[in-house]
Amino acid sequence: MSVAARLAAVRERIARACIDHGRDPSQVRLLPVSKTVGPETVRAAYEAGAMTFGENRVQEVQQKAAALADLPDLRWAVIGPLQTNKAKAVAELAAEFHALDTDKVAAVLDRRLEAAGRTLDVLIQVNSSGEATKSGLAPGRVEAFAETLGAYPNLRVRGLMTLAVQSTDRAEVAACFALTADLRDQLGANSTLPGSYDELSMGMSGDFDLAIAYGSTCVRVGTAIFGARPTT
Ligand SMILES: *Cc1c(COP(=O)(O)O)cnc(C)c1O
Repeated sequence: MSVAARLAAVRERIARACIDHGRDPSQVRLLPVSKTVGPETVRAAYEAGAMTFGENRVQEVQQKAAALADLPDLRWAVIGPLQTNKAKAVAELAAEFHALDTDKVAAVLDRRLEAAGRTLDVLIQVNSSGEATKSGLAPGRVEAFAETLGAYPNLRVRGLMTLAVQSTDRAEVAACFALTADLRDQLGANSTLPGSYDELSMGMSGDFDLAIAYGSTCVRVGTAIFGARPTT
């Protein structure tokens, strides 16, 4: 199947999940995750209507952005943890950062954005599964962290991001999404916090239907569009 056909199939599943769960399809955005995928395949997805792509390695964004510099309005979302020595590149190249979870990264990004004369949409990553291997803030620490972000005027705080536990038990996965959605509602209701809290980035190839049921506004889908990634 072509990338265009897979994209169409994923869009169809998103639309179906929206119908099933009473969601407005215009409130759920598909973020194709193109990590490990070559620039020509990204180009094919762009030609099929995708404009923003998720990546978790900054160097890969730099390479693909250079190879695809001819595409107008192509945007990149960095969705993986960031080392501060890569903040400059993110500030210059990315439109979104979904994995904010430390003050250090927030501070460096803000400074680099200031220098670049840009702003960046950011989402705070929540460790909703409690697994030690996952990035993100413990749910109980998110609100205090969110308060500190007012110090960084070049970060546009948009909401929360999470990765659910990898489990065949749908109830366990759902619990991660429910927790993150509740937390987003709580933060959105706190008018003293900087940011809009209109974004909830959750759901991947294996669980995006369920994430939509719990209010996801952005599903990050790689494998279902681009095929299995090489395991390294
Ligand atoms: C790779 C990745 C995805 C996409 O995962 P798939 O299972 O291939 O859809 C989503 N979110 C993050 C943070 C990722 O690193």
